[in-house]
Amino acid sequence: MKTFVYIDHFKGEVQPASWEALGLAKSFGAAIALVFGKSVDAVAKAAVEYGADEVLVADDSSLEDYRAETYASTLAALASSLNPNLILFPTTARTRELAAMSAVDLNTGVLTDLIALEANGDSFVATRPIYEGKLMEKIVCAGKPVMATIRGRAFPKPERVSGKSGTVTKVTAAGEAKSTVEGYSASESAVNLGDAGIIVSGGRGVSNNPALTPPAGMDEKQAEVWRAQQGFALVTELAKLLGGAVGASRAAVDGGYIPYAHQVGQTGKVVAPDLYIACGISGAIQHLVGMRNAKVIVAINKDADAPIFKQARYGVVGDLFQIVPALTEALKKKLGK
Ligand SMILES: Cc1cc2nc3c(=O)[nH]c(=O)nc-3n(C[C@H](O)[C@H](O)[C@H](O)COP(=O)(O)OP(=O)(O)OC[C@H]3O[C@@H](n4cnc5c(N)ncnc54)[C@H](O)[C@@H]3O)c2cc1C
Repeated sequence: MKTFVYIDHFKGEVQPASWEALGLAKSFGAAIALVFGKSVDAVAKAAVEYGADEVLVADDSSLEDYRAETYASTLAALASSLNPNLILFPTTARTRELAAMSAVDLNTGVLTDLIALEANGDSFVATRPIYEGKLMEKIVCAGKPVMATIRGRAFPKPERVSGKSGTVTKVTAAGEAKSTVEGYSASESAVNLGDAGIIVSGGRGVSNNPALTPPAGMDEKQAEVWRAQQGFALVTELAKLLGGAVGASRAAVDGGYIPYAHQVGQTGKVVAPDLYIACGISGAIQHLVGMRNAKVIVAINKDADAPIFKQARYGVVGDLFQIVPALTEALKKKLGK
């Protein structure tokens, strides 16, 4: 069994689920990493250290910026000549496009956003959540090679063995891009909830601390947002201490407490961290679909009947403005920080 694994990166910064895809590929047999870009030696080296049996590197100025046309043509040319059984991608905005476009070139299909993949002879049976995670769908792809994008954090990441040496083969880029990148600018959505191992989230409850007196001259809405910012400062301090990311409910986003990039749920990000701490979040179904795959859920809410407690492994009934700082202090002591 031979599997290609597309290593998705931006200017050398690799999407961690690429390594998870590599680990999955190894469980089927030979794993061949594909690294495209310009000056990507460090990415190729990392692919070897994460266990690739071989790395095919297309290092070319035409591949400096991700363009679907050139990347898909290069990938399809390699697949046509080397005939892998399976091509894996981490699920990202780029790979959704790249996998689909390469599949057209290769006259095959794509299985997307998988959380499980089993070999069945020379075929594969994939599992993916549908209908907001209420149903699991089993799918197979009749085309060859089978192409699949895997959901981040759904598969274990292999250990990195520093200094490991392996076979790195240069290959040529193919195709011509019809569009060019004019430039990049950072946006506020540089919040990477999808890869976070720990997420501390705040909901409407972070604005609910009548004891806090806002600065004079604020109207009611301004005072609410100001209070919420004090609440999110506590949430953020806890997240930072744990090396995690800050999430939010839609009520918090709609309330103007925090940018949309932090929203978890049906119309936000779907996350699967090891630990999810929900502070002042009721647990509406639209929020739950975004976080219920977290390994451990902790809920802090002053309403003992809040639905979030049905999902939580650990629940604290109380005022988050007391509980969160106390938890942060206790963890600081425990972690010696
Ligand atoms: C089509 C659609 C899509 C949606 N998509 C999303 C989505 O992607 N994500 C999402 O989150 N929601 C989404 N929603 C909204 C969702 O239905 C809920 O309205 C929202 O999740 C509620 O957010 P919340 O839990 O922060 O607020 P609330 O439901 O108002 O809950 C606030 C909680 O805070 C607690 N609380 C208050 N004060 C304190 C305190 N001092 N200490 C501790 N606890 C306190 C309260 O007891 C309460 O349980 C969507 C809705 C629709 C219709």
